[in-house]
Amino acid sequence: MSRKLFVTTALPYANGNFHIGHIMEYIQADIWVRLQRMLGHEVNFVGADDTHGAPIMIAAEKAGKTPQQFVADIAAGRKPYLDGFHIAFDNWSSTDSPENHQLAKAIYLDLKAAGLISSKVIEQFFDPEKAMFLPDRFIKGECPKCGTKDQYGDNCESCGAVYAPTDLRNPYSTLSGAKPVLKSSEHFFFKLSDPRCVAFLEEWTQDGRLQPEVANKVKEWFTVRTNPDGSTSEGLGDWDISRDAPYFGIEIPDAPGKYFYVWLDAPVGYLASLKNLLDQRGQSYETYMADPQLEQYHFIGKDIVTFHTLFWPAMLKFSGRKTPDKVFVHGFLTVNNGEKMSKSRGTGLDPLKYLGLGMNPEWLRYYLAAKLSGRNEDIDFNADDFMARVNSDLVGKYVNIASRAAGFLAKRFGGKLADVSGDGDALLEHLRDASANLAELLAEREYGKALREIMLLADRVNEYVDQNKPWELAKQEGMDSHLHDVCTVCIEAFRLLTIYLKPVLPALAAQVEAFLRVGPLQWSDAAKALGAGHVIGEYKHLMQRVDVKQLEALFEPPARAESAPTAMESVAPGGEELAPTISIDDFVKIDLRIAQIVNCEAVEGSTKLLRLTLDVGEGRTRNVFSGIASAYQPADLIGKLTVMVANLAPRKMKFGVSEGMVLAASHGDEKAQPGIYVLNPWPGAQPGMRVR
Ligand SMILES: [Zn+2]
Repeated sequence: MSRKLFVTTALPYANGNFHIGHIMEYIQADIWVRLQRMLGHEVNFVGADDTHGAPIMIAAEKAGKTPQQFVADIAAGRKPYLDGFHIAFDNWSSTDSPENHQLAKAIYLDLKAAGLISSKVIEQFFDPEKAMFLPDRFIKGECPKCGTKDQYGDNCESCGAVYAPTDLRNPYSTLSGAKPVLKSSEHFFFKLSDPRCVAFLEEWTQDGRLQPEVANKVKEWFTVRTNPDGSTSEGLGDWDISRDAPYFGIEIPDAPGKYFYVWLDAPVGYLASLKNLLDQRGQSYETYMADPQLEQYHFIGKDIVTFHTLFWPAMLKFSGRKTPDKVFVHGFLTVNNGEKMSKSRGTGLDPLKYLGLGMNPEWLRYYLAAKLSGRNEDIDFNADDFMARVNSDLVGKYVNIASRAAGFLAKRFGGKLADVSGDGDALLEHLRDASANLAELLAEREYGKALREIMLLADRVNEYVDQNKPWELAKQEGMDSHLHDVCTVCIEAFRLLTIYLKPVLPALAAQVEAFLRVGPLQWSDAAKALGAGHVIGEYKHLMQRVDVKQLEALFEPPARAESAPTAMESVAPGGEELAPTISIDDFVKIDLRIAQIVNCEAVEGSTKLLRLTLDVGEGRTRNVFSGIASAYQPADLIGKLTVMVANLAPRKMKFGVSEGMVLAASHGDEKAQPGIYVLNPWPGAQPGMRVR
């Protein structure tokens, strides 16, 4: 019977591009979704950008953009990653969408009607200069225990102590440097400690829908526990779901100036993206969600388990909505045993660089699948292992089967398949018998086990080829019929293996479908055969091997200014040789600052100079002469930002004292290549900021 599945991945925070950890999660979910579709099930697979909260608001301000523009720019960069790795979301939306505003408010009002919203006045640190309450990560100070400076508001990186931001000594705001003050404000809470919530969650988290290792971890949160600092916590606490303006988020109904904490509306984004998709198709979201047959699944990383196994199901349950059937938790991905891929750190394997080097996205899909299991455990991307698995398993064992048989079929038999008999038939039966077990392993997200089984089947096929030696049969008189039989078995075996690999390798499977001249392969096609008389197409090489040079290029650190010159004949860039090497200490002696040109005028008696009045954020202006009159009209420059050397000793010139120097680019040979270009920073830079 056809099932109806609603599937999501976690929503990425829209403060940066995807890193390899995101891509791993999307590939894991995409394989699962493709399997379900091949099994004939109906799937809606959606994602969205998680857009709200203080970090995005602050990053947008730094970039000189509105938060809306900031997240729109991030969203515009998503497609190359998703298309590049064949990740086929049905929809990609945003938590700032009208659907999410409406659904988050509706859920909140339902929770309020259920008596599960309370309010309480709490004291929090407030930045008097920025006029905003400070999230913990924007407060630093000295550790109350060991005195280490510049520690975050929640724990000490030096001694490991855990504390409240109010415990910090000499706290300061990382936004303004100001000393934060304690200020009280009314906050709203979701009453997770309510006996109804506790009873529901104790049942919901332990009824088998979570992975055993996840369920065990969650169980600890219901009991009295000892915190790292020695204090104890008792069971579930109420959850603070409001933040005060200014905040980029969704305003709470009937509470002007109060916004939902980003983690309240983020998971609602799953439903909002689905609703957006169904609206586009003219389908009813309400009808879809009301179907008791509907199954709901979330793929997430282990760092956000609390939100998805406590807050989210409780929000849904007590607002009268459907709760997830399962939450699939995966571990982190490390690269070459390197650092973990967290939301804030994303180094190691750059997905776009991978694609840019022309590396096949399905190599990565295959490799990650080979490492993934249904358990919440970390996996490592290892370059040598990657090359070995792709080259010897994927290409050596699987792709080669087709190339070993297709040539003979085309040359000797017009591409037409024969009847299969004896040995070959037994081999194909063995391959077909694996179908149910493989579907089950893939459905359980035991991709590594499934691929090992599939490669064992490929080994059997290769043994069959080696025993029957079609290349020798082709040279012998009277062996045509046997050769035809062996090649047909190879092609049919290759078709079966392609069905099993298709969720992992969708683009390769499409090439195989064209080669075999068959429609899109479904899982049920494993029970059938192409049959005698079917004519296949021309074989074209299906997949290259990984070249070690590609891997070297992938992990080569980005080029740096101090890198050694190459063996190429040196050219003088911009018309002049580079100046002798200096140390970083030499460089920091030069104090470069962003300056605003508040006024600019021609200098009487000079055709070269313009007189600039510059604001470098010092509370006074500076007078600077600059030899740029040939390139700019004074009016062109007024109001613009530029970069100046702010600690150059004042120089007395014919027309007055010059208190610094404005930076401009020009060719070494001004006569050959005239033109002067004043430097101009990206939007968002402020007068006085140091350039380093
Ligand atoms: Zn400390």
